[in-house]
Amino acid sequence: MWRRCAVSCRADRVGLGPVGLWSYHAAIGARPGRPEGGPVSDPIPMVDYLVLGGDPHLVAHECTSCGARFFDRRNACASCGAVDSFSSVDIPTAGEVRAFTIVKSWTGGDDYVPAVVDCGGTSVRGQIVNTPPDPEHVKLGMKVRLTTYSIGADSTGTEAITYGFEPA
Ligand SMILES: [Zn+2]
Repeated sequence: MWRRCAVSCRADRVGLGPVGLWSYHAAIGARPGRPEGGPVSDPIPMVDYLVLGGDPHLVAHECTSCGARFFDRRNACASCGAVDSFSSVDIPTAGEVRAFTIVKSWTGGDDYVPAVVDCGGTSVRGQIVNTPPDPEHVKLGMKVRLTTYSIGADSTGTEAITYGFEPA
């Protein structure tokens, strides 16, 4: 894998993967770190079932016995009891609002809309975003699609990314 070193030595094309880069830097005595004015780290997803990149989507653990899907890690299926029999499955990014509530802020912050969205048969919890948080704009059965947005950056500039659903 050819890549530009973005950590410290700025070698133009280092023929090593990320792990190899660390070995390479150790070999030349460089100490990986963010160079002044250099690129910051890639954004990180707020939850480990959100996959970022050019086509952001959610990934669930699917029970290979009964097909039940879970977003958190499981040792056993809560539906059929099968042990350690999960595979990863990509969740469709298009969905339909099955339930929602409009939360009114009493502290002066923004109102928000937690919802349950049916994405191809999988229930996903997430907020409805990019539309006014009121009953005129958010309705049961409305078509939505997954979107991602930054919820802030740490002191090194690394952004944390979460997901929500916007009107399709
Ligand atoms: Zn199961």
